[in-house]
Amino acid sequence: MSLAAIEQRLLTSAAARERLAGVRVVYTDLDGTMLGRGASFFHGPDGEPTFEPAEMLLAAGAAGIDVVPASGRSLFGLVRDARLLGLSTVIAEMGALIAYDTGRQIVHAFGPTPGGDGEMPVRTMERTGTIDLLLSTYAGRLELHEPWTAWRDCTQIFRGLVDVAEVDRLLEREGHGWVALVDNGMLFGAQPSLQLGPREAHVYHLVPRGTTKGSAVALDRERRGFALEACVAVGDATADLEIAPHVSILVIVRDAAEQDPKLLRLALARDNVFFTQRPMNLGWVDTLRAVLG
Ligand SMILES: [Mg+2]
Repeated sequence: MSLAAIEQRLLTSAAARERLAGVRVVYTDLDGTMLGRGASFFHGPDGEPTFEPAEMLLAAGAAGIDVVPASGRSLFGLVRDARLLGLSTVIAEMGALIAYDTGRQIVHAFGPTPGGDGEMPVRTMERTGTIDLLLSTYAGRLELHEPWTAWRDCTQIFRGLVDVAEVDRLLEREGHGWVALVDNGMLFGAQPSLQLGPREAHVYHLVPRGTTKGSAVALDRERRGFALEACVAVGDATADLEIAPHVSILVIVRDAAEQDPKLLRLALARDNVFFTQRPMNLGWVDTLRAVLG
């Protein structure tokens, strides 16, 4: 049934092609989307070496398409990742920070926090016990996603398997309602020490409530004067769905939709979400190919 639903919403459909005409900007998730196995740009979904993503990125650059990484990764790491790929604008920490001109200009894209006086959101989460509350309440089901927890300013990162709505109710009840937990998709690579089956664990971000990749895309579009029709996004997680209202098309790579029934259900509920024929970064290649026509 899920396969049939995906087949009816392929990026190659006439409905998708119509929405892709005139696209000049691609907001792209990295892990599980633009990157293959082991978060490598040069390896496919099964770890096989491939130049396909590199060739497609060069073709997009030659055609004047602006490719903007939009990731949960920390800002300074992401700026350097993007620089290696020849990309100068990034959206980091799940939309909380935008960097232009290879980090020369940084925009805080999160709303008010209780920290005050310049305290960054992660410090406030640590100081007020928000992170400890989650770790103690969900011991055995949620843990910090080491080693990616360092150098973070706005969002903290976890791995495990929890009910996001239930966590949000807990945060609200315990006086931490200014933050929210968001699902950033399936965990690839090293298995966590939690008692979960293979491919059960997800990555989660604790974010200032209201901060999403979508809010950052909306802000970037406003700052740079991009029309909605000129923008697409591609991703692999529930968090990426937040971009859908702000772009012409949101593309979800096929493997993510096939393996996460909740993601597929939420994706199908939005009429501008389409799926790729191929998985992971090969689906990313297909997306750019469709944009280039
Ligand atoms: Mg991802």
